[in-house]
Amino acid sequence: MGGFLPWRWKVFEPQRVSWRGGGIAAFMLTREPLYFPNAALEPHILPVNRRAGWIEVICGSMFSGKTEELIRRMKRARFARQRVEIFKPAMDTRFSSEEVVSHDASSLQSTAVTTSSEILLLATESDVVGVDEGQFFDADLPRVVQELARSGKRVIVAGLDQDFKGQPFGPMPELMAVAEYVTKLHAICLVCGAPANHSQRLAEGSERVLLGAVDAYEPRCRECFRPDASEK
Ligand SMILES: [Zn+2]
Repeated sequence: MGGFLPWRWKVFEPQRVSWRGGGIAAFMLTREPLYFPNAALEPHILPVNRRAGWIEVICGSMFSGKTEELIRRMKRARFARQRVEIFKPAMDTRFSSEEVVSHDASSLQSTAVTTSSEILLLATESDVVGVDEGQFFDADLPRVVQELARSGKRVIVAGLDQDFKGQPFGPMPELMAVAEYVTKLHAICLVCGAPANHSQRLAEGSERVLLGAVDAYEPRCRECFRPDASEK
């Protein structure tokens, strides 16, 4: 991981700053919020010389921009010459089996895997491990990403936090619990314009996964969400 200068300043003991005005400088140097008010939103800016990595979760409803946010973070890491790798479940065949594609078509190469434990074998050379569509992975994914983080990797998981009935989706709730950073994104309710937390299914059917059917959903707020509407 690359260093970031102001964090390195912290290695100086305050009493070592002995020149005039040093007291004020030492006070300022030990107050990170002055320099990083967005540290929670920009978790790549972290202290150097750490052995463990960490876990970031990007969650929200459909059309909330989760994959775009994952790609944004991965591209910035790649720009910093960190080795990045994105994994997604093999079942997600919406657009391309090679790339993680968000709705705005900015994409990164990705690897499709059938089980989460494959990620452990394939990500050994990566500094930053991205996981898209985390909700479709098996229940082992939380253990896998914790092992990756313990081995020093930054892990970023994007996924739906709720299914079309408003129920917590797959391994996402457990991932949110064990992650250092959770970013919950919102879409805009198509009925009333409020921030949308739910994915409303418009097509009929009670199966949880309706793949390749992006048109079958729209974002809705709590007030406009009708979890049983698709079962009529
Ligand atoms: Zn609404």
